[in-house]
Amino acid sequence: MEPRKLLIYSGALFILFGVVVQLGGSALASSALAISVLCAGMIFTATAIAARYESAPPAPEHHETGLQNALPQQLANEVHERFGQVDLKVLGSAYAKSTWREVDALVDDVLDACIALARSTIDLNTIAIFFPTHDGGYKIRRWYSQSDCINQAAIIYPGVGVIGSFLKDGLKQLSLSDIVSDSMTLYYYTQDARIRSLMAGPIIVGGVDRGTIIVDSTEPRHFKEEDHAFLRHLSFLCGQAVYYAYLNTEHQLDYARLSAMSNTETFFFQKHDLESVIDKMFEIIPFAISCERVTISLKSIDAEEAAVVRAVGPDSDLLINKNFSLAEKSLISLLYAKNIAFSREFAQDRYENRYFEGEPQTRGIKSFLAVPIGMDQCKGAILLESKHANAFTDSARALLSRLVTSAGLAIEKILVLQQARNLATHDGLTGLNNHRQFQKLLRDEMTRADRYNDQLALVLCDIDYFKKCNDTHGHQFGDFVLAGIARTLKDSIRDGVDIAARYGGEEFALVLSKTGLEQAVETAERIRQFVGEKAFRTPRGEDVHVTMSFGIAVYRKHAKKINDLIKKADKALYAAKENGRNRVEVF
Ligand code: GH3
Ligand code: MG
Ligand code: MG
Repeated sequence: MEPRKLLIYSGALFILFGVVVQLGGSALASSALAISVLCAGMIFTATAIAARYESAPPAPEHHETGLQNALPQQLANEVHERFGQVDLKVLGSAYAKSTWREVDALVDDVLDACIALARSTIDLNTIAIFFPTHDGGYKIRRWYSQSDCINQAAIIYPGVGVIGSFLKDGLKQLSLSDIVSDSMTLYYYTQDARIRSLMAGPIIVGGVDRGTIIVDSTEPRHFKEEDHAFLRHLSFLCGQAVYYAYLNTEHQLDYARLSAMSNTETFFFQKHDLESVIDKMFEIIPFAISCERVTISLKSIDAEEAAVVRAVGPDSDLLINKNFSLAEKSLISLLYAKNIAFSREFAQDRYENRYFEGEPQTRGIKSFLAVPIGMDQCKGAILLESKHANAFTDSARALLSRLVTSAGLAIEKILVLQQARNLATHDGLTGLNNHRQFQKLLRDEMTRADRYNDQLALVLCDIDYFKKCNDTHGHQFGDFVLAGIARTLKDSIRDGVDIAARYGGEEFALVLSKTGLEQAVETAERIRQFVGEKAFRTPRGEDVHVTMSFGIAVYRKHAKKINDLIKKADKALYAAKENGRNRVEVF
């Protein structure tokens, strides 16, 4: 590499290093360090360029091995350290805004340094740096001028006016003495500054025009070939520093968001309970996306119903824990049915139900964003409401959608696991403990009864003539009866104390703890009556009644081993059947 290029690139690297260090640290000390490095880079570059190459010193020895090899590693370590534990605040728009403000200030410093460098090298009247606008123009950003009539809002459009056409041709000297008499046609003066010569250095990065530096003089044919060369290099350095400062910021923000999301997703997937997942969502959303009210609802497993499980914001105390039917004509019922996210303005002339008829009609809410939770089926919904019109930006929607997708997957995983776990111990039709679980629980209860010297009764019961019920009304109705009987049994025993199980077919078992013979008979009698009174309505509208027979055996009194106890309760049940059914027998 030519020595002069080497010098300029070294300077450029210094500048970029300064930019990166500046971006990396928030402390004043690191900013000061960055600016010193930046200045060092500028001075280094200035010296290199001002020396006009003839007397360029040989490249410093450390260059190849020093910066080029160590810096990437240093930066990699810094990035790793910085994003190891990112705060969730990086997901908020306030964080992005303040980050962009910081980099804007830094870029202004870089531009001011470029201007100072140009002034120390070129005799000029005005130097102004322009950057692109959204509509294809170039807007003045930083400048120095000996004239006091700079148009601070100047925008130049390529192809329009003198500089506009000049911009298209790239960098070359332009003598303006014969073309303009009034500098106002240059667009960056508010009155005539008697400009007679001008040069511009396009800022090109990655082959794309990204700005321009304009230098002018009141002297005709003022700028030399060396001035052009200087401006070309200055534009290059300025372009690289600014471009990479912004690019680095964009990457930094993206990386921070991804890290935060990835940490959140890891959290979601490590959790085995719905509460933690929903709590986490609820922790993130209100501050990542500004809104008035956030509510989350979840569908119940078996019914066409859902409940508001979390709410924050106006009237949230009136919505929390409220159940609502998914047949309601409401926004969220629609979401459950369609399973798609939607966002729009609320009608302002009438109130639209969010959840259910008769809910509190919170006023002043203008727009909403609603997102379903769950992939194939909507298992829940999250609703964000804002008092501003069009409150939810694309990035807010994207963030919420990503968050809810991963939370939804985690929730689905938890539900599937819960179901699988439940299926291993519970009967699918009745929801009661299954045979295997019954055996385990009975064994546990016997151990406990031994330890505390408690009584314990086992009741086996069986539906009478159930085959006939199936034959007459169909198997499906038979299932309906079984489920109803199971509910009656469960409701008739002490919750959390006694145990009900489906022993098999239309036979059930009840384990009554701390219960002796008399009490067991009483309980069985009571249940026998309940069952007999209960009516099951067939699809044809007939009311059907069934009866049950009961057999009781008491632990230790009748048997000391589990199999004997069961056998004896079964014998008693057989006796109940033999003695006419719809009755209770004791072994
Ligand atoms: P008994 O009074 O002697 O107990 O007469 P029963 O008809 O109830 O007894 P049986 O053992 O002859 O018939 C039991 C019936 O229960 C036959 C079987 O189809 C039915 N059954 C068992 N499990 C289920 C089930 O899960 N669903 C339905 N619908 N029927 C079942
Ligand atoms: Mg039966
Ligand atoms: Mg039977």
